[in-house]
Amino acid sequence: MLKPAPLLPALFLAFPLAGADTPPEWSRPYPAHRIAANVCYVGTADLGCYLITGSQGHILVNTGLADSPPLILAGLRSLGVDPKDIRVLLTNQAHYDHVGGFAGMQQLSGAKVWATAADARLLRDGGASDPSGMSRFKPVKVDRVLKDGEVIRLGDLSLTVIETPGHTPGSVSYQMTVQPDGRERTFLFANLPTVVMPLDSPKYPGMVADLRRSFARLKALKPDLWVAAHASQCGLAAKHAAGRYEDPAGYARAVAECEADFLAKLRSLPSK
Ligand SMILES: [Zn+2]
Repeated sequence: MLKPAPLLPALFLAFPLAGADTPPEWSRPYPAHRIAANVCYVGTADLGCYLITGSQGHILVNTGLADSPPLILAGLRSLGVDPKDIRVLLTNQAHYDHVGGFAGMQQLSGAKVWATAADARLLRDGGASDPSGMSRFKPVKVDRVLKDGEVIRLGDLSLTVIETPGHTPGSVSYQMTVQPDGRERTFLFANLPTVVMPLDSPKYPGMVADLRRSFARLKALKPDLWVAAHASQCGLAAKHAAGRYEDPAGYARAVAECEADFLAKLRSLPSK
């Protein structure tokens, strides 16, 4: 049985400043490997980057820091994947630790950038309009704006866009079906709505409402397999070691813990 993933500190870290010292595991190489069916891990030890391979090219979800592309490239090569076959870059959240590598991966692959409207704004201005004020990266052109509920199609791939804002205004999860052994299973690329700025910040007035809505949405999902923007959030290393990624209970637990943290922060807000 898969033991509950230990809660690694990265989940609870304050949001490190772009350009400031980042946790070493964000830049440490990690072996690229198949998670299930056509989904492979190509991220660093903690920055989750996921390759979804398809008949008409691939989708890459998240690209890590500005200096992560060489690590991602090494991972792709070890899997026998040509970066030029990546057609689309997606992200869970337009923060520098997940989209800092967009410009580099875009250059290596020629892929198009698809993003939700609110995260597209951050991608275009390099994080200048990020309400947290703490995330800067090289701006990129956004080729397509994604709508909540739409199904992204690329060859034989289809992913449903599920907006889960709150961590950033455009944070998003994606859900698809995989068939690792002929039986269909639900695979979720989850953006856990961690709170990285004061809940009463005037820079993001709808944050509490966004977070409530996102937790309701995430709790309604029942993925068989799931990953997250940070490998530590989904216990990826333990799952890799065990060779087992099915983890519906771990998903429910991670969302519940994240929501409990949000509610505790909400309760500690000074009453007006
Ligand atoms: Zn973030």
